[in-house]
Amino acid sequence: MTDLLQRGREYFSSQFGAAPGGLWSAPGRVNLIGEHTDYNDGFAFPLAIEKRTLVAASVRADRRLRVASSSFPGVVEVSLDGLDPDALHGWAAYPLGVAWAMSEAARESGGPVDGLAGMDLALSSDVPAGAGLSSSAAVECAVALALNELWGLGLGRQQLARIGRLAENRVVGAPTGIMDQSASLLGEPDHGILLDCQSLQTESIALGFAGAGLGLLVIDTRTSHSHADGGYASRRRSCEEGARAMGVGSLRALGPADLPRAAALLDTQTFRRVRHVISENQRVLDTVATLRTRGPAAIGPFLNASHVSMRDDFEISTAELDLAVSSAQVLGAVGARMTGGGFGGAAIALVRDSDARRVAEGVAQAFDRAGFAAPRIFPVTASEGARRES
Ligand code: ADP
Ligand code: MG
Repeated sequence: MTDLLQRGREYFSSQFGAAPGGLWSAPGRVNLIGEHTDYNDGFAFPLAIEKRTLVAASVRADRRLRVASSSFPGVVEVSLDGLDPDALHGWAAYPLGVAWAMSEAARESGGPVDGLAGMDLALSSDVPAGAGLSSSAAVECAVALALNELWGLGLGRQQLARIGRLAENRVVGAPTGIMDQSASLLGEPDHGILLDCQSLQTESIALGFAGAGLGLLVIDTRTSHSHADGGYASRRRSCEEGARAMGVGSLRALGPADLPRAAALLDTQTFRRVRHVISENQRVLDTVATLRTRGPAAIGPFLNASHVSMRDDFEISTAELDLAVSSAQVLGAVGARMTGGGFGGAAIALVRDSDARRVAEGVAQAFDRAGFAAPRIFPVTASEGARRES
């Protein structure tokens, strides 16, 4: 972490020629369980991880916004006057989209939008992009926290989560739900965030992994995914169609008892999409209940069933993700599933500490035998959400 702070400070100075006024950071996340449920008003259970994105920021005397990222060349510069959500493209759409969404929030709350100061922002990150660890939310939440403080807006963390989502939906054009931003803003060490995406209520739930001698491995298949196009949007449409045909506002209104009616009413593909969401919501609740009553070593079957549902019903897995999961299971993981939006990205495996190394090596060997590119395998620990660093 000190390393990231140091890099962030130096990078800001190299881009803007002065020391930053402050440093803020926000973590990536893994979703323990509850996939493609957030935009269906359902339940998700993510945790913030120790990999973080840092924003170094300084207030300017004018109304210019300048953003730089150590992951991309060049400085992008716009004016706060006439910040146009339709004119922001590429990586800069994430931080500048947040600036736009925050200025809209300030306007709605009757604040002095014309009084908001310009800003220099420099991003540095440990969160690999496009690996299913939500590097996008880490950027959004770090920037949202910094701007909230530097602009003196006093918005709460749940509002900041909504601002991050608005930036991603409206400015970037990715129709994602509220899960990633909630995890990044509300995470706590050794806790997962149970998120009710309908009420937007959250509850911090003790995981107890370390205490039980367990750890979470991420298996990043290094195959790419893109939420902004194709599969994600089409799955989302299927869910909307399913809800409409079933006469409900969202799939959250349905439970396991509605499956026979859904099977009779929906075409087979839409039915399978709907069945994933209904069963996944139940698995989230079962996972949380099991953590409380029997402890983390007992949640494996829910993780495994979640993967089967995503593979067979929602059809968002890939050969690499399936191999990551099946090889981890064969090697003795307590449970494993793909995580994130799908079509590539990462899987997670809950493993006994004593097995972690063997599982990691065995999965890598299985990838090698299958002729797949070497996966990136690393442990993650439930960590603190977005914070000011200095
Ligand atoms: P994920 O959130 O799963 O990592 P996304 O496709 O949602 O994948 O977001 C990745 C995109 O977020 C990147 O292509 C880039 O545009 C933006 N992004 C992520 N990290 C950074 C960063 N450190 N600096 C600038 N942009 C970033
Ligand atoms: Mg993302």
